[in-house]
Amino acid sequence: MDELSQYTSHELKKRGIALYSYVDVPHFLKGNPFILTGYRAHLPPSLCIKSLFVWSNETLNIWTHLIGFFIFLFLCIYDNVVIIPRYEGTWVDHVMYSVFLTCFEFCMLCSAGYHLFCCHSEKVCKWWLSLDLAGISVGLLGCYVPAVYYAFYCFTGWQNFYLIVVSCLMLVTLFMQLHPRYLTSRWALRRLALLCTVVGFGIIPVTHWIYLHGGYTAPIVLEFLPKVAVMYVLGILALLFYATKFPERCCPGKVDYIGSSHQWWHVIVVIAFLWWHHSGLILMEHRYNNPCTVQQTVSS
Ligand SMILES: [Zn+2]
Repeated sequence: MDELSQYTSHELKKRGIALYSYVDVPHFLKGNPFILTGYRAHLPPSLCIKSLFVWSNETLNIWTHLIGFFIFLFLCIYDNVVIIPRYEGTWVDHVMYSVFLTCFEFCMLCSAGYHLFCCHSEKVCKWWLSLDLAGISVGLLGCYVPAVYYAFYCFTGWQNFYLIVVSCLMLVTLFMQLHPRYLTSRWALRRLALLCTVVGFGIIPVTHWIYLHGGYTAPIVLEFLPKVAVMYVLGILALLFYATKFPERCCPGKVDYIGSSHQWWHVIVVIAFLWWHHSGLILMEHRYNNPCTVQQTVSS
């Protein structure tokens, strides 16, 4: 009751939702000292949802990944209904693409949910933050699913091996990140270890894939290695924005609503996922146009 009266008397203005400056918001919303204005705070869930249409410093963070969710939902339907049948794909192709794009959708939805509801209370903010971080890891691990399936298409033993490893990594990630102690400082090292494992793991199947196809000069490697490199460059660029808080660090208060580091991080993540989806389709097309040789199948 106290909280509710607080919302109606102090926090809400006549024509909508009040916005606060950095110094006035609760400590759990003070994650970025270079964003000075445009904060929402103390909102009940219904007003959090209403704030979707209020121009705050979270508006672009919410919408970039909400739109991202609908893009990947559309691609999931389109791939299953149009693209995969075009190549006379099997049920396994449908499963691979559905899992892959569902991971992206999960990532987008958790992120949009976090930015939408973080202004409710500390408890809700932490719960959604756990989901947001879990979503990032699941989205990253989702990238491995079609990549491993089509890259090791002719090496079924290794294909199964890497798919099992990726599935285990996903389960461990979800278990760890939804654990109540995940966000505590005591788990800082485990958090770092998990992120390094999720990102760094990719080097192992990529190196193995190059070796199995005969080295760097093999046509398939020459065609697809640059696509992997672009993905890593996009990932590093996104992480640089995330970690350095650039550009707001250089001009505090000037990019509160448009152009802040977190918005760049969001947009680059969507671009990276779209790039990987596009590359996955080319790899699938390549596999259907170039059937496995007996030699490849035997050596797996
Ligand atoms: Zn975010």
